Amino acid sequence: MKIPLEKLTNHANSYAAANGLQVEVKRDKTDSKSVAYQCAPISLLPNAFPSSAFQDAKCLAPYFNLLVDRISKDGTFLHDTLGGEHGVVSKDDYTKKLLELYTDIYMKEDDNRPNFAKEADALGITRSDYMLNPIDGNIDNGYGLKQVELNTIAASFAGLAVNVAGLHKQLTERFDLELEEWLDTNRKAVMGQEYSAREDTEVGVPTNPALTNLPNAMNVAHENYISKYSPSIPTVVLFVVQEGETNTVDQRMLEFQLWNNHKVPVVRMSLTKAKSQLKMDEVTGALYISPDASGDGSVGSIPTKYEVSLVYFRAGYAPTDYPDGYDGIEWESRETIERSRATKCPNLGYHLAGTKKVQQELARHGVVENFFGKDEIGKIIDIENMREAFAGLYSLGEDVTDVDLAAVNEVITGKEDQYVLKPQREGGGYNYYGSNMAKKIGENISRNKDGTISLGEDLAEFILMQRLFPPKQSAVLLRAGLVEGNGPSESISELGCFGTIVRGSDGKIIHNEYSGFLLRTKFSNVDEGGVASGFATLSSPYLC
Ligand code: ADP
Ligand code: MG
Ligand code: MG
Repeated sequence: MKIPLEKLTNHANSYAAANGLQVEVKRDKTDSKSVAYQCAPISLLPNAFPSSAFQDAKCLAPYFNLLVDRISKDGTFLHDTLGGEHGVVSKDDYTKKLLELYTDIYMKEDDNRPNFAKEADALGITRSDYMLNPIDGNIDNGYGLKQVELNTIAASFAGLAVNVAGLHKQLTERFDLELEEWLDTNRKAVMGQEYSAREDTEVGVPTNPALTNLPNAMNVAHENYISKYSPSIPTVVLFVVQEGETNTVDQRMLEFQLWNNHKVPVVRMSLTKAKSQLKMDEVTGALYISPDASGDGSVGSIPTKYEVSLVYFRAGYAPTDYPDGYDGIEWESRETIERSRATKCPNLGYHLAGTKKVQQELARHGVVENFFGKDEIGKIIDIENMREAFAGLYSLGEDVTDVDLAAVNEVITGKEDQYVLKPQREGGGYNYYGSNMAKKIGENISRNKDGTISLGEDLAEFILMQRLFPPKQSAVLLRAGLVEGNGPSESISELGCFGTIVRGSDGKIIHNEYSGFLLRTKFSNVDEGGVASGFATLSSPYLC
């Protein structure tokens, strides 16, 4: 780098402050009002990424959205995949609770009780995450996309990612000569030593439309609600958030754009608070917020009653978001919301469609194909390209096959570095790698007399996944605005691609599009991912 690191870091920190590229820090952990802001964890410079793979991710976004929508309506598939006496739900109480609620609300006919949930629209804000991996396992073939996971609840960082892309565009354009050599080395690490830019290829940091497209999709859902029900009192969008959340700037950017672009107000509330402030009208299914006397739960300072058009979940994806336990008030809030006629982002079906067990099942031969008619394949959906993005995924449950067992055998016979063990959790920090994984699996299997393997029941809540090996390139990571470690170090990245979809109650898809991107970068010796969990930083692709 032909520019002092300090100069670039100062520039990045100022840009971050000027553009709200910030996260909250609690100055005093005992006082929730004592809030300060600091630079979000970021990669100082963008990371080289093949333009063709980036285009592939964009094309796949609406297909995965459609797939999520189809899965969400297929209770039999969700039960076959997650349920059963020895299935995921037998070992994972959280997924069990989600499936129980889904079954109660969407699969049971009760003539004495109107079903508002079934009549509600659906909004999906999805983020399909990918790593680059050598094509056919050989780096001489270059790198292609493999899906790490598909997030269907609380897919975050749309707001911050737009501003990181802005920072990276500015730095690489303004200091182009100083950074040329650095960028070139990284480009070659990804594209091969022979790389030279092609005229017909989009290069540099692309524009990130996430902060326009996510609020736009929310507004499509909001407007459809209004035209369907013509509410007689003011309507709001409800953001369900965690108490003590620190990634608030990212969330509020969506809120502010929703207001600036569409004049739609937002109320923020945790599932705990929602218990006392949310009520569903038993006759109409309308979901109401009644702010308390202090004005909490109100848009302005005057407490008025509102009707909720759309509920956007940025909480509720982890057992810790339900501190009162499985029969507690947070689950009651979730149920009230789900049973109402408000549009949910996500509803329970969309949420369950994003579980890792479903991802593993979809990778099995012929399963994705089942969700589409012959007349749709090749027209509204490109299944071959979706399949191309699937990594090797293996069951450790009662539906285990010989192929799955062969993968298990590899893990326990020295190839543990080729796999990752994953439970049905979200938010980063839960996976097993390397020797920890081999130990965990080793403790839960038995060898039969004929040499075959039997799996212990405790493994049912996990899936086994082929480990991906993205190209390594140099990166400088900033945490709290300070350079991490000894400056430039080897890093790997994960691309997240946002999609938005709105489905009307008649099943019609009103809206379905690619909606922006996120790149996360971490040092290559770190196994886990996740920005909020402290492993990765926010970055952007530098297309080449
Ligand atoms: P979560 O829902 O908790 O984010 P992920 O499936 O994204 O779960 O796993 C967390 C992180 O673990 C990812 O961001 C990635 O860094 C790493 N990871 C997950 N699967 C793989 C894989 N197959 N190969 C390499 N790293 C992986
Ligand atoms: Mg996830
Ligand atoms: Mg993830």
